[in-house]
Amino acid sequence: MRTFFIYLSHRRDLEGLFMKFAPTRNLAMRFVAGETLDDAIRVVRELNQRNIFGTLDHLGENVTSREEAIKAADEYIKILDEIQRNGVKSHASLKLTQMGLDIDFDFCYQNVRRVVERAKSYNNFVRIDMEDSTYTDRTLEIFYRLHEEFGNHVGIVIQAYLYRSERDIRNLIDVGANVRLCKGAYKEPPEIAFPRKKDVDKNYIRLMEMLLDAHTNGVHTAIATHDEKIINHAFDYVKKHHIPHESYEFQMLYGIRRDLQVEIAEKGHTMRVYIPYGTEWYPYFMRRLAERPANVFFIVKNIFRG
Ligand SMILES: Cc1cc2nc3c(=O)[nH]c(=O)nc-3n(C[C@H](O)[C@H](O)[C@H](O)COP(=O)(O)OP(=O)(O)OC[C@H]3O[C@@H](n4cnc5c(N)ncnc54)[C@H](O)[C@@H]3O)c2cc1C
Repeated sequence: MRTFFIYLSHRRDLEGLFMKFAPTRNLAMRFVAGETLDDAIRVVRELNQRNIFGTLDHLGENVTSREEAIKAADEYIKILDEIQRNGVKSHASLKLTQMGLDIDFDFCYQNVRRVVERAKSYNNFVRIDMEDSTYTDRTLEIFYRLHEEFGNHVGIVIQAYLYRSERDIRNLIDVGANVRLCKGAYKEPPEIAFPRKKDVDKNYIRLMEMLLDAHTNGVHTAIATHDEKIINHAFDYVKKHHIPHESYEFQMLYGIRRDLQVEIAEKGHTMRVYIPYGTEWYPYFMRRLAERPANVFFIVKNIFRG
């Protein structure tokens, strides 16, 4: 089922069909804040009232023209301007293929650089999401270049399902990076990624502990998961090892486990929600279906309802 939905996420020719189909659209809207930046800012404001922070994602990936990539970078600059103007508490998260990584490395770098420069001017922060493994090296390279110039106004993501991640984390610890740790949302071959969920979860915990311990090196850890077992393990670990509050945070996706998001914030931990908005929700939504087949039953139920 997971493989099937990840396959569909690449079938952009089917996008129109799914986007027009009411039950799919309705379910997709549970994971997306709306189509406009105003919608997204409104959601951040509501979350902020519950002491939850945001990171805004303008949906879009794998752009094929320079114009689209420049437009995407402009939108991110607008995101940062609007966060500042509205006085809401939020970062931004972007994908390099949206900034033109499939077109040209240096062109992509210049686009992201523009965004991170603006974030720095507001003392804000931009996270570079991690895409499939064909992009990992180039994503890290762009991150390191930006990190050298802008320090921790830029952060990166590491996926626990990849065998290489332990090595990547050691390197990131050396520079005192801000790292979001997630399990990984793409389909990767067993030669490079743990095929079994059990092993991914085990590796997640190991990498999370490495990152949390490295707070002494200036590392900031974003624990991005909805997995309660891992979250409870993190609660115990930070308490037992006296990890300072400001050196870690929890992150979840908009529309998933809202109850747990509120609970974590109420416990006094920093809680941040990844808030996607825009019209290009098809591949993002397909990855969410891949993570949880039960979501598909929701669509089927709605079809039969009428
Ligand atoms: C803030 C954030 C940023 C992310 N950034 C990236 C990134 O840059 N690159 C990348 O590859 N991946 C990213 N991911 C996705 C991540 O890799 C996983 O695919 C996703 O978080 C599901 O894994 P899990 O850790 O929640 O654990 P799982 O074991 O998959 O899920 C644990 C529980 O969470 C709930 N849950 C999980 N997913 C869903 C869903 N789709 N719908 C409903 N309930 C669900 C269920 O209750 C499930 O039992 C990000 C995730 C988060 C939270």
